[in-house]
Amino acid sequence: MPIKKKISIKTWEDPILRQVAIDVQPSEISSKKFQVLVRNLLNTVEGEGVGLAAPQIGVSKRVFVMNFEPGKTELSNFVIVINPQILHKSDDLEKEGEGCLSIPGMMGIVPRHRVIDVSYTDLSGKIVNQQLCDYVARIFQHEYDHLDGILFVDHIENKDRDFMTEDQYLELEKKNPSDESEL
Ligand SMILES: [Zn+2]
Repeated sequence: MPIKKKISIKTWEDPILRQVAIDVQPSEISSKKFQVLVRNLLNTVEGEGVGLAAPQIGVSKRVFVMNFEPGKTELSNFVIVINPQILHKSDDLEKEGEGCLSIPGMMGIVPRHRVIDVSYTDLSGKIVNQQLCDYVARIFQHEYDHLDGILFVDHIENKDRDFMTEDQYLELEKKNPSDESEL
């Protein structure tokens, strides 16, 4: 078995997390360098969270990996999302707990669109169109934001009320259970 190398994750004071990432060129996708980037994203997110965007490991390109079956943690449930677009967002917003591997130890209650229509290029270079809802739509929106230099804290309406430590969040969850994971 090859050794799985994890890359250290950039944290929120790093300016790369505030940059707008550049598109991946179609000709790049099959390159060795791009394959290494994807492998690094997968190895780094494995066992740690449900999604990870390239800027979080220091590469300002429009690609992220995310778990499309977040109930299961195996890497086989992760999809490589290249040059994503959000084509339509439902009007209804849902607030749920969210964390981020770049904001360790903290959680926020973040409003997200419940249903989104998305388009992206997969690792074989094929365009994929999908409708996503609920938690999977939330993960997609969170990771997509990373490509535009946006962090979940930017969406929090009331930081005194809705931004907290994980311990505080767990206390809140005991009273009011819902989904949560590191994105
Ligand atoms: Zn994140």
